[in-house]
Amino acid sequence: MASGKPNLASILGLALVLAALSMLARDQLAPRSLPTPAAPTAVAGPPTLQEETACRNVGYLCAGLAQAERIRIQRWVGFSGTLVVDLPAPALADRGAARDLQRAAAAGIRLWNGQPFPILVDERGSRTAHLPVRWVSGLIGNEIGRATTRWSPQTGLQPVSLELVTSYPGGRPMDPEQIRLVAAHEMGHALGLQHSDDPRDVMYPMNTATSLSVRDYRTLEALYALEDGTIIVRTRRK
Ligand SMILES: [Zn+2]
Repeated sequence: MASGKPNLASILGLALVLAALSMLARDQLAPRSLPTPAAPTAVAGPPTLQEETACRNVGYLCAGLAQAERIRIQRWVGFSGTLVVDLPAPALADRGAARDLQRAAAAGIRLWNGQPFPILVDERGSRTAHLPVRWVSGLIGNEIGRATTRWSPQTGLQPVSLELVTSYPGGRPMDPEQIRLVAAHEMGHALGLQHSDDPRDVMYPMNTATSLSVRDYRTLEALYALEDGTIIVRTRRK
């Protein structure tokens, strides 16, 4: 019977043939042996690098290897935008001296502006800050500044606070020029820098530099070029 419509039998027949073909295809595609269970995919962690390859032209990034077998890179992760530092004036009876210290500390912190983040020093307390600066009358021993940070592999380095002293351990009022350099030094720590081994760098443990050096900037650049958590291992010395 000629008809424009296919009859039921031929539809069923075609369906059976297609089902058989698809089973056949599946069989042929099926693996011949039992699949070995996939090994759990290792989560790629930060790399471990050797001193001889990682420490070329990086300023004092690897200076810690003079004392330790290995160092770990700790830096800010996933931060974008402007880093706001809250910097009030110290509570001193001499308002002029307080303003001078505040201004000097702001200048020191701003030396890192754009390295690697734009920095806004808020001297009026009008913004939500990422990093608060606190003035203290003294710290432990001869310390005149301190940066507190925390680090975890998940979060990277996070700043907690900067503390600056208003007077020297003997009680003499702090010199604004010195507080400028102390603020720059502590801000360097807050960004993840460790100490330099050269007195000409602001990150030298003693305040002997007069400003940020090319090497200070170079070290920060090298720090942020590495993945957070990277381990650098000291090369065996003969
Ligand atoms: Zn320091």
